[in-house]
Amino acid sequence: MLVKNRSKSLRIKKLEVFQRRLIQNHPRLLPILDELGGRLAGHHGEQSNDYFLKPFLSKDYCVLHDLRLAAHDSFFQIDTLLISSRYILILEVKYITGTLHFDHLHLVIRIRDDGTEEAFQNPIFQVKRQRSHLTDWLSRNRVPNIPIHSLVVMSNPRTIIKSLPSHKDVLQYVTHSPYLQERIQVFDKMHSVEKLTKKEITKLSKLLVRHHTPENPDLLKRYQVEEKDIIKGVYCTKCFYMPVVRKYGAWFCSKCSLKCINLHLPTLEDYALLYGTSISNKQFCDFLQISSRHLAKRLLTNMNLHSVGENKGRRYILPSPK
Ligand SMILES: [Zn+2]
Repeated sequence: MLVKNRSKSLRIKKLEVFQRRLIQNHPRLLPILDELGGRLAGHHGEQSNDYFLKPFLSKDYCVLHDLRLAAHDSFFQIDTLLISSRYILILEVKYITGTLHFDHLHLVIRIRDDGTEEAFQNPIFQVKRQRSHLTDWLSRNRVPNIPIHSLVVMSNPRTIIKSLPSHKDVLQYVTHSPYLQERIQVFDKMHSVEKLTKKEITKLSKLLVRHHTPENPDLLKRYQVEEKDIIKGVYCTKCFYMPVVRKYGAWFCSKCSLKCINLHLPTLEDYALLYGTSISNKQFCDFLQISSRHLAKRLLTNMNLHSVGENKGRRYILPSPK
């Protein structure tokens, strides 16, 4: 059963807002697009790996994607968690191009097809740490003892893995997506004792979803983006043209002719991603580039938003981006 689905992270959504709204030639645009490209590749890699988990969704497994849970003084993230009555499996999904050398203890070296080399954290270390964090978390939350396994899954079928024969961990912990089903069957055979009842699995899944805390990074600060660097106006969700204008009670895109009554809603999500969920009538007019306070008031009222304050000090609370 699929308990928690995968969606784009707030970090990716914020980077996408920068991509469509940052003024041309902004000095941080290239590193922003670079980070966005890498994170989108990772996200697509995770999505393509989900395909290989489909056979398990109808069986007695609970599958949760994208979990971020509190550790002692920080958080730990899990790409996919599979809960069965006999064991739990953590999957760390990597979409990496090129050849990966697991020759070092803490690092892996990636060699791209063009010969360039890059070092990054050994994902085997990462899954071992996740396992120990999850063990702590489960015991803190009084979940009955259950074996936990973890795997690094390479979702790009073209990733070549090389390692020293002494690195037995690589065989044990690293696999490619198409072999995931076989690996899970091996874990199934290893564990015959039922540790959790169906009811306990459901309870644990709900507990995990309730404790999930999405990361909400301050990317304005991270990339030194100021309000003056952001292009304002309603954007067209079909062709991304800005600014779309309001005509005869609807938004109209002069580039692709899209006509839509509620096109201000995605733009307000951009606002919330950039500046938070609280907005005044004045800020609403400014960000959506509309001149009529009355139109703003009407659109805000139609959204049935919770508001705080009175008259000119009134602030509306937009839905939190998810
Ligand atoms: Zn358009």
